[in-house]
Order: sequence, then C-alpha cells, then structure tokens
Amino acid sequence: MNDRINITLLGGVNEVGGNTFLLEDFGYDIKILIDFGVKIDRYFRYYPRKKAPSTINELIMNNLIPNDDLLPIDDLYTHSWSNIKIKNTSIKIKEQISLDQLYPSNLDGILISHAHKDHYFGISFINRSIPIYTGKVTKKIIKAFYKSEIHKLDNNFKGLKWRTFKTGDIINIKDLKIIPFHVDHSVPGAYGFIIYSSVGIIVYTGDFRMHGPLSNMTREFLEQIKTNNIFLRSNTADDKQKVLISKGVKVLLCEGTRIHKGIVESEESVENNLEKLFQNNPFNFILVKYDRTDWDRFRTFSQIAKNHNWKYIITEKDAYFYYLLNKYGLQNTMKDPNIIKDDHIYIVINGDVKYIWQEKIRQIIYKNQKGARFLKYSDLYDIDGNFFFYLTNINRKLIKNLNFKKTGLFISSSIDPYSEEFYDNTNTIYAKLQEFGIPCYRIHASGHVLIHDLINFVKSINPMHLIPVHTEYSEFIKLLFSKYDIDTIIGEKNKIISFNAD
Ligand SMILES: [Zn+2]
Repeated sequence: MNDRINITLLGGVNEVGGNTFLLEDFGYDIKILIDFGVKIDRYFRYYPRKKAPSTINELIMNNLIPNDDLLPIDDLYTHSWSNIKIKNTSIKIKEQISLDQLYPSNLDGILISHAHKDHYFGISFINRSIPIYTGKVTKKIIKAFYKSEIHKLDNNFKGLKWRTFKTGDIINIKDLKIIPFHVDHSVPGAYGFIIYSSVGIIVYTGDFRMHGPLSNMTREFLEQIKTNNIFLRSNTADDKQKVLISKGVKVLLCEGTRIHKGIVESEESVENNLEKLFQNNPFNFILVKYDRTDWDRFRTFSQIAKNHNWKYIITEKDAYFYYLLNKYGLQNTMKDPNIIKDDHIYIVINGDVKYIWQEKIRQIIYKNQKGARFLKYSDLYDIDGNFFFYLTNINRKLIKNLNFKKTGLFISSSIDPYSEEFYDNTNTIYAKLQEFGIPCYRIHASGHVLIHDLINFVKSINPMHLIPVHTEYSEFIKLLFSKYDIDTIIGEKNKIISFNAD
C-alpha cells in the first residue's frame, strides 16, 4: 500500500462556485469526486433559460465541466447523452442506464455536500454506474427541482445511483471511511465531510455559516472534527488510523466566500429589518427576490406577510417545488410555510396547463378545496389588500398586470452578489422596475460564514494545511492565517496537490 493522496481542484478554486475536487487515495486505491458543481453564472451565460447544450463535448469545450480525458477517470460521463429525448423519457432512460452499465466508470463515488447547483449540477451528465453519496434532504431537493423544471439535457437526474446518508452514518467506500456531518447553510440539509484517508484526516466544509437559525449544527460539526467521536465509537478504526487521528486534521478544504469584506448580519436581522419597514410601511405591494432553495428566507418573508395580513403570491412552479418539499418534510423547518395549509399563500396560474407541475399543483390545491387561493395575472391589478410577489425574473405578464398607480417596492434578498442557483439578474430586474417608479431595498443575510466566525473555526481546527476553496481571495486567506502559523496552500485549477503520511 502506498499511503499517499492527490487532491486535484477541478473547480471552485480561485473562484466562487463550481466546486469539484478529485481525491485519489493510493492507500485505499480509490478515486472520488468531492462535489460536482458547475460555475453557475458562466453556465447560464452560455445556456440562458430554456436553452440546453446538445453534447457533453460542447460543455467540455466551453470549459463548463472537467475534461475527463485529462483525468485518471474513465467514462466519467454518460454514454447515451445524445439519445436522451424529452418525450418517451422512461424508455430512453433505461437505454441510458444499460449503456452506462456496459461501460461503467472507474470513479468510486461522488460526494455531494448540498443542493446548490454550484455543488451538484454536474451529476446531470454523469455515467449512471457511479454511486452518488448525499444527504436525504439534498436528494429530495434535487428531485423536486427536476420535477418542477422542463426535462432537458441538463435537467436529467433520472437513473442516478443514489446512496443517501444522515448525520451519524459512516460512509464506507472500499474501506475508506467518511463521516458526513450536518452544517447550517442557506439551503436545508447541507453537510461537511470528515475523510479518514491513508495520510490523515481530510475535512471538507462545503458551504456553511454560523449566523443562521441552525448554527448549532455547524458547532456540532466543529466538535466532531475535534473529537472524531462517530468514527472512534464505531470501533472500526484500526491502530494506524488511531495514530493518524491523534495527529489532528491534515488538510482542511474550507470555504472562504466572503473572507476579506463583510457585514455582521444574521437571518434574524433580516426579520427585524422587515419588521422595521412594516412599522411605517407606505407600500401596497412588494416584489421580492431570493434563491428558491433558501427555505429560511421563504419562511421569513412569508411570516411577515402572515403577521401583517398580506397575501404572499408565488407561481405554480414555485408552489409545486415547495409542495414537494413540504410533502417530503424531512426536516421540521421544511414544513413551514405550508403550501396547502397556509391560506395567506396565493398561487398565480398562467393560462392552460402546459407543464406537468401546473397540472399537479392545480390537482392538489383543488383536491384540498383551496381553489380560492388561485389567482390569474389579470387579478393583480385590482386585487383586494396588499401583497408580496415572489419572483426570480421579470416577465411581461407581471409588468402588464401590476397596478403602478399603487406604491410598490422591490426587495433584493438573493444569496449574495453572485448567485448559487441562477445567473444573477437582480440589476436587470431593478432597471426594469425603475421605469415604473419602483424603488429597491436590499434586505439580506449571507448563507456563508462571516469573517470572525471563519477565523475562529479555522483556528480551532488548527489544520496542518489549509486549502481555501469557493473564494476569489486565497492569497488574502494565506496572509490572514500566516498570523496563526497555519500553512495555506493556494490551489491552481487542474494542478495536483500531493500529501504523504508524515
Ligand atoms: Zn451553497
């Protein structure tokens, strides 16, 4: 056995998003990918709404996914890409799976930390023989996304070989043990990983924060990194592994999205600021934008609407997405708001049924005798009372039917200056709304760790080597942590970083 590991940063290095790291552990003869994201703003510049790539090669040529010819991975991507048709999907998916089984990949697995596209979107393109290790909630969110979007070549999450986990589980891939552990982030069900490699402990934080409603989860993750309780209590660690564990963390792959400049903020401050606005609120309607997977933000805005007797209007697509997550209800926080029970939530229907999510949500709402909560766009003009309208882009129907004689406001509450889910179009929306005399507020708290929390987190782990990821400020991080004698390695895309046991 050759105890050595290689880490190749294929994405998310010196950039925010697109995290994809190849871990080769020669001691265990194993190759895994840690996250498989795409750089979402670049992707949507190539393929805006409703457009889709036609081949895997096209994506590789455009530098949107890694070129597997240059990697020690065979058959990373699915073989029947060009055969996948939107219609008759079930038959084609079967063909896809059998072709991939005929030419399986030698990649031993893909770990997915959470359900943001800049961490998982690549699995739409992979060989169906590769196991995907992810949290139960993440799988459900990806599936809900898949079901509430048009099925196209880059929204193809069928036939995947899921292996789901929860905190407390031990992932075992060819005897390499990995502890997935919950962290707080702006999407439910996010995880970090503690990997017991042949050269020592490798920790990957994924995206995390310590100022959200579930920040205790991040603190428990930190505790687990320091105690290794789950692995040690399982009695599966051999003497060699125990020695490696006693040496502490060898490599920390840590997110550093906003390390150089920030605001001290919290999800609670979003709520407080909204309450402040509502104490003297001159507005009749508020258009609000945030990332669809940001359940905490959805709850915050919906709660304000409920408290002040405002309607909360969402589209059918969003209603179906949230309905699916309510239905799966894997976390208590994901049951509130509730699409069926919450009568202040209204759903705007758009013409005849064209898409499956329209059909489904209409059936469900009518079946529950809540049909009165459906609205047409044309109802918006002289709607009774005040309302929020949740949007992710600006459409002509909305502009045509809003009553601009009333006073409106736009609140931008997206994840960050960049977006983890779609090409950030806040400025386009804002420019359009300005034409109608709609002012804009930014009321927001980041999904990413604040500066002082990150310093304390890294200091407390005190890793032998720190590799900053998901950040444009690696050099800055190196400078910052040199004060604590922590060796920071500045990664370079596609360059191998090797570690031995000593
Ligand atoms: Zn994220």
